[in-house]
Amino acid sequence: MHFLFILVLTLFANFNDGQRIGSSLQPRHYDLVLLPIISGSSPRLCGHVFIDVEPTTSTNVVTLHGVDITILDVSVDQDVGVKNETTSSFSDDRFLQLEDLCFSGLFAPVSRVFQSFQDDPERQQFSIILKQSLKKGQRYRIGLLYMAKVSDESKGFYRINYKTDDDSCCHEGWFGGTQMQATEARKVLPCLDEPGFKSTFDIIVGHNKAMTALANMPEMATAPMVTTRDWMWTSFSRSPLMPTYLLAMFVTDYHHLEQVYQVGERTVKLRYWGRPEQLPYFKHIMEVTPKMLHYMETYVNQPFSLPKLDFITAPINLHFEAMENWGLILFRDDKLYHNEETDSEDDRFYRTQIMAHELAHQFFGNLVTCDWWSDIWFNEGFSSFLEVDLIHHAMPNETFRPEAAQLKGIRSAMKFEEQHVKPLTVVRQVETADEAESMFDAISYSKGNGLLLMLRNFVGRETFRRAVATYMERFQFQSVNSQRFMEILDEEVHQDREFGRTMNVTKIMNSWTGQPAYPIVRCSRTSGGRIKLSQEPFPMSYDYSSHGNDTRLWWIPLAMTDAKRPDFSQEGTYPRIWLTPDRPTLEIPYFPPLSRHQAAEDAENSWIFINGQSSSYIRVLYDKFNWHLLSRQLMLNHTVIPKVSRAQLIDDAFTLAVAGLVEYETVLDLIEYLTLVNDEFVRSTSQFHLQWMKERSRRNESLYQLFEEYTRRFKYEKMDKGESDEYDNLVRLDATDPLDGIDCHNWSDGVCVDQVLRLFRAQMTGTITSAEKRAMFENLERNWCVVMRHAGKEEWEWAWRTSLRDLSSSQRTKILSAMTCTTNRGQLKQLLARVFSPTIDQNPHETYKTFEKMAENPAARSMVLNFIKNNWESLERHFKRPGDTLKLLASTAKHLSNTEDLDEMSQLISELQNKDNKLDHSVTAGILDGIRSNIRWAEKNLDEVYSALEARVITRRTDNPSANKICTSKSTCSL
Ligand SMILES: [Zn+2]
Repeated sequence: MHFLFILVLTLFANFNDGQRIGSSLQPRHYDLVLLPIISGSSPRLCGHVFIDVEPTTSTNVVTLHGVDITILDVSVDQDVGVKNETTSSFSDDRFLQLEDLCFSGLFAPVSRVFQSFQDDPERQQFSIILKQSLKKGQRYRIGLLYMAKVSDESKGFYRINYKTDDDSCCHEGWFGGTQMQATEARKVLPCLDEPGFKSTFDIIVGHNKAMTALANMPEMATAPMVTTRDWMWTSFSRSPLMPTYLLAMFVTDYHHLEQVYQVGERTVKLRYWGRPEQLPYFKHIMEVTPKMLHYMETYVNQPFSLPKLDFITAPINLHFEAMENWGLILFRDDKLYHNEETDSEDDRFYRTQIMAHELAHQFFGNLVTCDWWSDIWFNEGFSSFLEVDLIHHAMPNETFRPEAAQLKGIRSAMKFEEQHVKPLTVVRQVETADEAESMFDAISYSKGNGLLLMLRNFVGRETFRRAVATYMERFQFQSVNSQRFMEILDEEVHQDREFGRTMNVTKIMNSWTGQPAYPIVRCSRTSGGRIKLSQEPFPMSYDYSSHGNDTRLWWIPLAMTDAKRPDFSQEGTYPRIWLTPDRPTLEIPYFPPLSRHQAAEDAENSWIFINGQSSSYIRVLYDKFNWHLLSRQLMLNHTVIPKVSRAQLIDDAFTLAVAGLVEYETVLDLIEYLTLVNDEFVRSTSQFHLQWMKERSRRNESLYQLFEEYTRRFKYEKMDKGESDEYDNLVRLDATDPLDGIDCHNWSDGVCVDQVLRLFRAQMTGTITSAEKRAMFENLERNWCVVMRHAGKEEWEWAWRTSLRDLSSSQRTKILSAMTCTTNRGQLKQLLARVFSPTIDQNPHETYKTFEKMAENPAARSMVLNFIKNNWESLERHFKRPGDTLKLLASTAKHLSNTEDLDEMSQLISELQNKDNKLDHSVTAGILDGIRSNIRWAEKNLDEVYSALEARVITRRTDNPSANKICTSKSTCSL
């Protein structure tokens, strides 16, 4: 029966906190008709939605999320049953009403309900107060006719006007689509916009006949519009239960390639959408995607839930790489295609990595959803964590990049935590849309990744996988908390005799997700031939000690190995020892136990290695003797310790030195072996830290020179034969690579510069060979950077013209980044001003990257800072997203390290705060804190660093025969 509800205008009563909806209504189903007008000067979105709800308590308040939505008509029907999935008759009143509304601006309320609603923009909600209560246990259908906005930035429903104008083609088109995560669905339809609410969705989209409409599910039927020529409706089949943030709709004139994924009788149609000129480059992604989808299905022991899966690129640089919309994954412009001729192996890997992440989300996030944003680390961490296995499966030759990327991610999360001005836990309170958005940070993605890696290491791969399968089976199509996963693991491990009932996975993991940052584990030998282990929090910049005693303690699984039986295998990452909150300090006999034939002295002189293959989210602080033993091992044969572990060891040492816990002398000892062998990955880790130190010693001319001379000692030749497979995969240059084998120290040596310049000029004149061209593209940014620093006007102008061509955005970003290497002020000015050029459509992502990179160039740094300062408002408009200009300022200011810089920055920040009281205080405080800590570091450490560097450089200058000798046995390498 049709039930009329009379709306009573009352003042809206605040009945809950933040922007969460009270749980008095359970949405069950949405029937959405959307008519987006995306072209022209007045884009608009007209919609009609029926929301089937069940009150969990009798209530006369219907509260829904909605932002910038104008409600035009409301109806409420009672006792509606479950509507069948049928092809709507497209001549229903609601379709005619939408056509009238969107094309003629006419509308006439048909429900005859007196309509009004109480808006609460602060909470992004509105409420309909009903005269009569909705009864618990009944089902109601709420109908809403509304208008919403089509945005010009990628939030809610947005549109993009795109042009392609390369040599062969010129085309202008419109692209319309949605981005709902985290809380943007409320800009597209009135809804209960929280991940804990799952509903089914019927979607119908109106669009021009020349365009295709896509949504999460396959197209079901189409029909021409009744009153509007050349327009049509497309309906899509009903979705499974899903949250609003995964909804997706696109309207486009793109073309597509298609393949069928088949397992037994079951098929999934995979379609790859892009502009016609992009289609030939989908080859790589079409090769790896079915393999990775199959791996995911096998791993979670569940089939992909939908009959189709579309992949589409947006014709601009989104502010994110990709979005996992169920059945319709969106990618940033150039992240689906791979041009074998001009893209590098790193590009290929990165694109595969993004696809792997989004495919993992189809299960982690889509099939089972986190019930609230505070737990998003589980979705993002899991999808990041599975990238490694997925890529190994699809690209078996990639033996090292996935692990290297994982380690880099985990270490960048540690760095993020070390530098953040306020403590952030993995699981933290979220009440507002902004807070939900802020959860998508390095902690959720990369610390989440590191914590899951640690968890799998200590429960074992097979137990972990079984728990994943149980979790998927038990909670599919539901929204749950990550605690449910830990409980399943507890069930699993308690059945395992080895663990027994003593292990409490939930408790262990809560110590990591509920406390900010991470622990340092100290490892030292005692005089009695034992090893003492203890834990303490890493000393963060926000200094816990000032707030009373820091009592943070963790459950820490510790993998240990040593020189006698080095084991960095999968089994080797299984914890031998635990440090716990109850037992934070521990003494153990020498590990592994001494054999009868082993002299105690011999064992004591063997190095110990804790946390091999970065198995736990910790840093390890050894005693001085052990650091020396490890240095000696690296000099003797560095390959005994695998690459990931070597890099993590070096990263720990440098980081602990900054915290004042290790001497620089010790750190430089550890990397001394880089003067003997080319160890690309570890060298780049070391150089990152050395560059950081060098930047802070810029004012000390002689120290700066010393740094230059010191880093020239590192080996660059390709001679890392002991690990040739890994190395080849990392670089994968042909043997004929004209840049291979040259001793290019910092790419500024004369020989190297001449070589790169020669190739660049050959490229300008079109006389470059294909092998040379390949070599130039493989390391485009580095090579062009050398050219920009050393070449003249002609080369600059050629690079400028190239940057204006129709390139993929990653190519253009590489070129612009390389161009920031020039030291010519006129050229730098030209590069800065490019952002506001009326003839160049520079996208915000390119601007951000270019400015960030330019600030690394000492010759350009103050120019960048002044430009940001003088063009603050214009940059804010350019970036569109509030806070991006401030983030850019923070990123450029991190290199500042003297008191004048600090004074100047303090003044700038207070001026900005006077103008804009919404400026994020934690970011501005972080900027000033960062400069202060740079100053402190320089005051405290520069003398020590000077002596340590000098000792090594002078040894080299005087050609001391023992200095660069390759140690072939222990006796020739005394400590
Ligand atoms: Zn993700």
